[in-house]
Amino acid sequence: MFILLMGPPGAGKGTQAAQLVENFKIPHISTGDMFRAAVKEGTELGKQAKACMDAGHLVPDSVTIGIVKERLAKDDCQKGFILDGFPRTIAQAEALDRTLAELDIKLDRVVNITAPGSELVGRMTGRRICKGCGATYHVVFNAPKQNDICDKCGGELYQRDDDQEKTVINRLSVYQVQTQPLIEYYQDKGLYTEINGLQPIKTVLKDIVDSLRGGQV
Ligand code: ADP
Ligand code: ADP
Ligand code: ZN
Repeated sequence: MFILLMGPPGAGKGTQAAQLVENFKIPHISTGDMFRAAVKEGTELGKQAKACMDAGHLVPDSVTIGIVKERLAKDDCQKGFILDGFPRTIAQAEALDRTLAELDIKLDRVVNITAPGSELVGRMTGRRICKGCGATYHVVFNAPKQNDICDKCGGELYQRDDDQEKTVINRLSVYQVQTQPLIEYYQDKGLYTEINGLQPIKTVLKDIVDSLRGGQV
């Protein structure tokens, strides 16, 4: 199954992708995670990405398209994937179409998780990530059993630099201008499904799985 997971920052893409990976046994490809890994390794890519991420801007298309193209060509992607946070511009979507055509892959569904801006700000500022395994929590909506400690691996939780309120507001406007036009792009291709992201995490998951099954994938 080849799935695109879209939605504004904070909508719940990463949270849902982690569950879908377990259900469907396919790789989770998140451009945000790839950039954060490069930042941690201190590579040239990481330096370039960090400057963009901290400002709440997108990393340039040429850079982003290159790393995704390389990743999708790997063996583990040929039977399915969940692509999270890519594409985020029309140019990225067009490049993805070309890459998938070369690989003879057809997308099954584009799932867009939606939530209003007022909710998204609170979700991002309250988001905490595990330093050890990358699991995502929320200080109120999805709190760990012990403050600042990961339930799964005991790792320490941290707040992403770009989850400060000021950056979050920038990211929401970047989303509206650059990413929102993709809704029409995928509606026109007949692949688009919208999911109400304001529901509890489990209900959102159920709606996504139902929409994937309904599409007979
Ligand atoms: P994205 O990958 O779209 O930016 P995340 O999956 O990281 O979003 O979720 C953003 C924050 O909101 C996290 O702290 C997560 O725990 C929390 N969250 C995710 N889904 C929900 C939900 N349905 N209801 C409440 N909080 C949620
Ligand atoms: P969120 O969904 O919460 O915005 P991500 O982890 O998907 O978080 O993205 C974090 C940051 O990484 C973005 O604000 C952007 O700077 C960069 N990024 C991620 N995916 C892309 C992409 N497809 N194109 C350009 N920049 C990206
Ligand atoms: Zn952990």
